[in-house]
Amino acid sequence: MKPSPTRPCPMCKVPVEWGAASPHRPFCSERCRLLDLGAWASESYRIPAEGPPDDDAPAPDAH
Ligand SMILES: [Zn+2]
Repeated sequence: MKPSPTRPCPMCKVPVEWGAASPHRPFCSERCRLLDLGAWASESYRIPAEGPPDDDAPAPDAH
């Protein structure tokens, strides 16, 4: 009898049995799934600075 493969839960790192016994995989539980979803959602709320600042300063002309 082979042992069931496991993967660490992305949230709390506990081994999650990789099979029908773990309906919430890759998470160990619905709680971790929701936590991850929340973390992801709050990540996407962070609006990245749109466009880099103008950086076309003329090169100094050394004469
Ligand atoms: Zn977990």
